Amino acid sequence: MRRAIRAAGGRFLPGQEAGRIDPEVSPRAPDLPSAPHPEVVTTAEHYDVVVIGGGPGGYATALYGASAGLNIAMIEKGKLGGTCLNVGCIPAKELLETAATYLHVAEAAEFGVNAGDPSLDWSVSLARKDKIVDGLVSGLGSLLKGRKVTVLDGHGRLHAGRKVTVSGGSSGDLELTADAVVLAPGSVPRTLPGFDVDGKVVMTSDEFLSMPEVPKSAAVIGGGVIGCEFASMMSDVGTKVTILEALPKILPGLDKDVTKVIEQSFKKRGIDIRTGVKVEGHRPSGSGTTVTVGGEALDVDVVVVSVGRRPNTDDLGLDGTGVVVDERGFIAVDGTCRTGEEGVWAVGDAIATPALAHVAFIEGVVAVQDILGEDPPGVDYAKVPWCVYTRPEAAFTGMSEEQAREAGLEVVTQKSRFNHNGRAMIVNQPEGMVKIVAEKQPDGSAGRILGVHMAGPWVTEQLGQGYLAVNWEATVDDMAILIQPHPTMTEVLGEAMISLTGRPLHG
Ligand code: FAD
Repeated sequence: MRRAIRAAGGRFLPGQEAGRIDPEVSPRAPDLPSAPHPEVVTTAEHYDVVVIGGGPGGYATALYGASAGLNIAMIEKGKLGGTCLNVGCIPAKELLETAATYLHVAEAAEFGVNAGDPSLDWSVSLARKDKIVDGLVSGLGSLLKGRKVTVLDGHGRLHAGRKVTVSGGSSGDLELTADAVVLAPGSVPRTLPGFDVDGKVVMTSDEFLSMPEVPKSAAVIGGGVIGCEFASMMSDVGTKVTILEALPKILPGLDKDVTKVIEQSFKKRGIDIRTGVKVEGHRPSGSGTTVTVGGEALDVDVVVVSVGRRPNTDDLGLDGTGVVVDERGFIAVDGTCRTGEEGVWAVGDAIATPALAHVAFIEGVVAVQDILGEDPPGVDYAKVPWCVYTRPEAAFTGMSEEQAREAGLEVVTQKSRFNHNGRAMIVNQPEGMVKIVAEKQPDGSAGRILGVHMAGPWVTEQLGQGYLAVNWEATVDDMAILIQPHPTMTEVLGEAMISLTGRPLHG
């Protein structure tokens, strides 16, 4: 099938198809209003797509676009893989796995395996984390090379007429032009006034993931997903952790019953959760610091500032373009990630959509499909799967019970627990539950599945079925008849579904 590149505004450039630009039909031909500066590009190298940023949003765009036959250049000023591979998802989960392994050993005697008291060599875990990160980064480099993506090292800036400059890196100073440009500059950690990051006593996630030793005590400012994952990990390897959260509950955005499971587990393990509190400042003292919170003093070895991330859009050029950056720094886009400038898309953490690697991936896919003129439907952000890698884990997709009720929907809910599930008992992690939120039908029975919410063992690996159910708008009856292999933890999801038909099996 012949494909044309959509230059902008739904227009196709005749004579173009994926991976081939017909010189006879240059996108900068005078009759094409989307390319107003033909004179500046005489020495510039031309690509189908230029991508600025080599994190999940940028590299997904590059890999998917290259798979579709497009000639792509991707500019990265730091390390390939962006936040996710280097200072985000992957290192964070590796350190959480260290904590899980430590606990396995600590609890081994319950299984009759006498391994003694575990001791932790943090430097080995850090080296293992670095090895995994390096492996993934170099694998990504090979993948990009294999797909013939031109990877450029330097700072990319967009100018009028889809001209992109590269500077300050090993690729030297370059000018590129493209039929389409995708901006994927990602995000950086937010900081707090009065908490200057020194990487030793005050850290953001960037420093935390390489901290040289496990602290005896820590204050985590911010009880969101990342803050809670760090708190869970540190607590499991022996740190006395205090979470300081300004909002009334930790993990805002999760269904209240899911949050309750995590909260109860944290409290049982001695994590001090202080919600609705204002952190006023801190004063370094000896090797640690004293944090002032709500007028009280809290002595800790380290402070982990985990108050969200801000879009990394300060230095992207953009002069003379129609790209709009809002007051929070996000690039404004429409439903298929198009910016205000014709032929320019933006994806990932730099746009105001869920800041998740898998959202960045799919936005890259959508942008490429739109560039190819395939009219993609766009991402349904209300049904994105979310995973939280605390102990126990949490995962959800679709509406929480509160959101459904706020939307004026009548709902039926069901909670089924892991404490009677054979596999959960076998692995010694019986806490948690699966909660289904379904639309109430006129006869009072449960119909369409609106949300699936889980807290418990390995639920991040179990969410898939819930995601399909919500996204395919399955009903409870559709799901209840599916076979869940035995013994698996997904039997709890199956039990919740069959219970909603009014005929529970085990529950
Ligand atoms: P980024 O990954 O930030 O990549 C942007 C890249 O662009 C960077 O490499 C940057 O150097 C480069 N860049 C920026 N400007 C320029 C420029 N002008 N020129 C050239 N290069 C430029 N998400 C999940 O889905 N699951 C998780 O478990 C998860 N865990 C996380 C844990 C932590 C601790 C953190 C911090 C984040 C986590 N995330 C997780 C979020 C995830 O990392 C981000 O959503 C994802 O990395 C966003 O991808 P991106 O491509 O938009 O941006």
